[in-house]
Formats: sequence, structure tokens, C-alpha cells
Amino acid sequence: MPRPGAMEGEILGTVLRRKTATIRYPFQEAVRPERLRGKIEHDIEKCTGCGLCSRDCPATAIEMVEATKTKTKKKPQFRFDRCIWCGTCEAVCPKKAITMTGKFELAAFTLNDEHLFVVSEEPEQAEKTEE
Ligand code: SF4
Ligand code: SF4
Repeated sequence: MPRPGAMEGEILGTVLRRKTATIRYPFQEAVRPERLRGKIEHDIEKCTGCGLCSRDCPATAIEMVEATKTKTKKKPQFRFDRCIWCGTCEAVCPKKAITMTGKFELAAFTLNDEHLFVVSEEPEQAEKTEE
């Protein structure tokens, strides 16, 4: 029969032998889970401007803004101050134009910080050369 207090000693020993789980972030690089849903990247080349991502976003974090390249003349603008990182936009995009990357450091001092908005640049229109 175990003597009283033996179990506590065993638990304490296990806890003390365990490696530290905390890290000295931001001085040490954070270990990210493989499937972390971080900052969104948008591929304007694939985007048709259909607006499905904006329609289905539960946080109203995607606004369709004017574009010249997409078929519907609209492109999504992502607002990371509203985003809840649910991944719905990535899942619903029929053209696989949205990717959630592992980037998670998105702190900003103000809500107008351009860091918090992502709207894809459209490639320069190729100038037509007269022959
Ligand atoms: S991850 Fe979710 S909340 Fe964020 S923009 Fe996409 S659909 Fe909206
Ligand atoms: S990113 Fe995808 S879902 Fe959103 S407008 Fe473009 S094609 Fe449509």
C-alpha cells in the first residue's frame, strides 16, 4: 500500500522533469501549429470577383471594391481587424484564390493601419503596341 504523500512526490517529480513549454517570445521564434490559419493571401490572377467570399464571411471582414482586372470588375478587400480566422473564405472560393498563411503577427497601433487591410494589386495592363 502506498504511503501517504507518495503520490504527491511522484506528481511533483514528473512536473519538475518536464521540459518548459513557454518560450521567450518575441525574442525566440514561436512554434506554429501546422494548420494555423493566419494572414490571408489573395491571388488576383485567379480571382473572378464573384463575391462569394464576401457574401459568406461571418465577420463582414471582406468588402468588394472596384477592380479592372476581374471579370465582374470587383475584387475583395480583407480587413484583419474584423477577421476571426475561420477559413470560410478560403473554403468557399471556387477559384482557390484565397490562402490562409501561417503569418500571425498582425498587431497594429491604430484601426486605420494599412497593415490591417489587404487588397490585391492588379497587374499593369499590357500596353498595346501599334504595328
Ligand atoms: S477567415 Fe473568416 S472572418 Fe476572416 S475574412 Fe475569411 S471568412 Fe471572413
Ligand atoms: S477571392 Fe474567390 S470567392 Fe472571392 S471574389 Fe475572388 S473568386 Fe470569388
